[in-house]
Amino acid sequence: MFSTAFLDLPPLQGASGTVTLPGSKSISNRVLLLSALCQGTTVVHDLLDSDDTRVMLAALRQLGCGVDVAGTTVTITGLGGRAWPTEAIEFFMGNAGTAMRPLTAALAVQGGDFTLKGVPRMHERPIGDLVDALRELGCTIDYLGNEGYPPLRVHQPQLQLDKPIPVRGDVSSQFLTALLMALPLAATDRAITIEVIGELISKPYIEITLNLLARYGIAVERHDWERFVIPAGSRYQSPGRIHVEADASSASYFIALGAIAQGDGIRIQGVGADSIQGDIRFMDAAAQMGANITSGPNWLEIQRGTWPLKGITLDCNHIPDAAMTLAVMALYADGPTTLRNIASWRVKETDRIAAMATESRKLGATVEEGPDWITIHPLPAGKWQRTSIHTYDDHRVAMCFSLTAFNTDQVPVRIEDPQCVAKTFPDYFEVLFLVAHTAAPNIPVICIDGPTASGKGTLASRVAEQLGYHYLDSGALYRVTAHAALLAGLTLDTADEAAIAELARSLPVRFEGEQVLLGKVDVTDAIRSEQGGMNASKVSLLPTVRMALVDLQHSFQRLPGLLADGRDMGTVIFPNAPLKVFLTASAAQRAERRHKQLILKGFSANIDSLRADLEARDARDMSRSVAPLKPAQDALQLDNSSLTIEASVEQVMVWWQSRQVFG
Ligand code: C5P
Repeated sequence: MFSTAFLDLPPLQGASGTVTLPGSKSISNRVLLLSALCQGTTVVHDLLDSDDTRVMLAALRQLGCGVDVAGTTVTITGLGGRAWPTEAIEFFMGNAGTAMRPLTAALAVQGGDFTLKGVPRMHERPIGDLVDALRELGCTIDYLGNEGYPPLRVHQPQLQLDKPIPVRGDVSSQFLTALLMALPLAATDRAITIEVIGELISKPYIEITLNLLARYGIAVERHDWERFVIPAGSRYQSPGRIHVEADASSASYFIALGAIAQGDGIRIQGVGADSIQGDIRFMDAAAQMGANITSGPNWLEIQRGTWPLKGITLDCNHIPDAAMTLAVMALYADGPTTLRNIASWRVKETDRIAAMATESRKLGATVEEGPDWITIHPLPAGKWQRTSIHTYDDHRVAMCFSLTAFNTDQVPVRIEDPQCVAKTFPDYFEVLFLVAHTAAPNIPVICIDGPTASGKGTLASRVAEQLGYHYLDSGALYRVTAHAALLAGLTLDTADEAAIAELARSLPVRFEGEQVLLGKVDVTDAIRSEQGGMNASKVSLLPTVRMALVDLQHSFQRLPGLLADGRDMGTVIFPNAPLKVFLTASAAQRAERRHKQLILKGFSANIDSLRADLEARDARDMSRSVAPLKPAQDALQLDNSSLTIEASVEQVMVWWQSRQVFG
């Protein structure tokens, strides 16, 4: 995940490939609770791993459910037919609304001695309408803090189920969902009726609930959207095995991607046209705008169809979240697009109408807005502005605007606070970069070179971290090559040059954080020794070996960008890199730093001999005929003798910002 302050998206040119999206949050927590209320075992596949699902799983364990987590597959052994806990239990619900509401209802109907608490924000989220409905049917619930809000305490109920149970539908559909999932527990010998007071909002979410109840053996009768009857004799039955669909709202970005980007198309795994999620209807709107979409069981394939896209006018009440993605597609259309009936945008994570309008205008678009509508005019070639997109702590704003990187003018786009996508899709950008592509010259490279022990590795990896870029430690490639050559019984000189080059050409090297792996073996310590450095120096003098490592080094130039550290990065490997830094520090300083490093690692070392070694190595490195140590002509020099690491990072960031100006 990108924990950077901003993420610069280079201009993107196309996209192809398959994406697997995280499971739907709404489905995940419903399925967990339903599985817990069944008799027998349910294997849940593709469960979303998020704060909300973790809270639910912890609560189910406390209740005595069998919970076995293996990656995204979770096996739940339900409570049905088993003794319901009689001891007092306190549940911590964090800030997980999708766990708090349905669990409260189930616990209250079943009865016991249960306390439900959460984080302070949870204690500000209303639950009064649900508690009122539950009290109406005979549940005993106390407020432990403020009236109408968690924390709550639940006792033994005196159920009275003969009259219809009224519940408000105009505040949150989660209250109705909670009742629908809890009441089958009490409907063994009589039918139970729920009556919705006020206009029911978010009907697609109730559809998901009804659909899943049916999968667990409960056939709720729905009379319009006003009256729901749970038939007498209802009993939860495990479906045995159930797959959680991928999140349909998350799918909207990749459906749009397929419609916008050139390439062989995008395949989305985990959700299909027959999805039970309301937001899947986004695909119809995208098709109207020109996307070519085919679908099968649990998959979608999207190709660019009509281009430019067609502007449309659409009532978006049925797809409020996914409709934001249409607003970005509209920038690529042949005429204006108007999205109507989207008043709810104003009260989401942020005022989404204002956010979409403001940020689209910054890109250069003409946008009109009203209380419950927005009109976006296409942004023609030549008019796209380089800008920094503010994301308002709203995951959807960030994901939507990432799609503007495909703009016809090939201007890069900055996305502020990219980690806000974690709310529903922590790996969004990683998945995007897996399928998006662009010409190599568009992928920025920052080169950092300098004499041995100047701290270039630390500087480069810190800058990479700040920018969310990849990091190439080219020295490590030479170190690993030398290590592999010695393992193969080769000598590190011209006698075995061809054989070493052959090894280097298909070097099975992988970097995992600080670790360097050769095949499956961790060689980090072996190559990081002083001897490892000497050996690297020897093989790096063999021109054929240097040639053999070129392709491998180029392969690190991947989206969204690269920090390349090492000898000839700016001169030979990435000569067109837009920023090259040559880092220096006095020999005395470098010897001291190296000394500290070695002592920390538990090696013994002597400062004076280290300094003598460094100076000797400098002299050799500068005078050697193959890849001598010298700054690229256009490199900026940075003497960090008296700078902290933070100050050096800051300097490089300032230089980089002055080359990448965003609005
Ligand atoms: O940077 P590091 O100390 O890991 O590099 C080990 C040696 O590999 C250097 O001293 C240098 O001789 C060689 N090298 C090189 N070209 C690079 C990186 C390292 O010749 N791009």
